Amino acid sequence: MDAHNPSPSPLRGSLLSPKGARGIYAVKECFLTLQGEGMQSGSRAVFLRFAGCNLWSGREQDRATAQCTFCDTDFVGTDGEGGGKFADAEALADRVASIWGEGAENRLVVITGGEPMLQLDEALVEALHARRFRVAVETNGTLPAVRGLDWICVSPKAGTDVVQRTGDELKLVWPQQGIDPANLESWAFDHFLVQPMDCEARQEALDAAINLAMERPRWRLTLQAHKLVGLS
Ligand code: SF4
Repeated sequence: MDAHNPSPSPLRGSLLSPKGARGIYAVKECFLTLQGEGMQSGSRAVFLRFAGCNLWSGREQDRATAQCTFCDTDFVGTDGEGGGKFADAEALADRVASIWGEGAENRLVVITGGEPMLQLDEALVEALHARRFRVAVETNGTLPAVRGLDWICVSPKAGTDVVQRTGDELKLVWPQQGIDPANLESWAFDHFLVQPMDCEARQEALDAAINLAMERPRWRLTLQAHKLVGLS
C-alpha cells in the first residue's frame, strides 16, 4: 500500500501485484439472472460485476475523453444489489453460491464489470470451482486473463491494445470506428459475434451489425436478449 495513501484501493489490481492475495474485492453488484448475450445466452447464471474499469472512470463528465465511450453499465461503487466489499475469495464465492441457491447442476457464474481482470485472481476462480461453478468472464481484453477460466469472452474496444487474443468468444460491439473486423479474424476464438451497439442510433447499429454478419459469415449476430425480455 502507498504510504501516502493509506486507504484501501477500491480496485485491487491497481496497486498490488497481479498474483497472490490482493486484499479486498470491490463488487458493484451480484445477482441471479439469465445470461443475455453471446453463445451462452439463455443460461441461468449468477452475474458478478466488479467495480471499476481501466478504460473509463464511470463518471459522465469523463466519458468524452475516455478510451471507451459507449459504455451502458454502471460499475461505480459497491452499492448495487448483492454488492459490497469482500475480504477474501472464500467470502465472495460463498456469496455467489448463496445467490445461486440449491442445486449443483450447471452452476454458472459470469464475472464482468467494469473490467473484471483488475480484480479477478486465481484464488477466486479456485474458490468458485470448489463450489462447482463454471467460471465465465467478460473482459475488454486489455489485461491478460487469469488461469483456470472456463469461458473467456473478449469485447475489444477501438484504440486499445488488446493483449488477450485467445478465448471462447470474441464479441464485437458494432459499429466502432477504428476497428476493422477483418483484422480480428486471425485471433484464436471459437466464436466471432457481432452485437449492435446500444445507442441512440439503435436501428442504424442493428443494420450495421446485420450487414457485417451478412458480408462476413465468420461473424454471427448476437442481441442483448436480457434487455428485450426486461431482465437485468
Ligand atoms: S471497457 Fe466495458 S466496462 Fe469499461 S467502459 Fe468500456 S464497456 Fe464499460
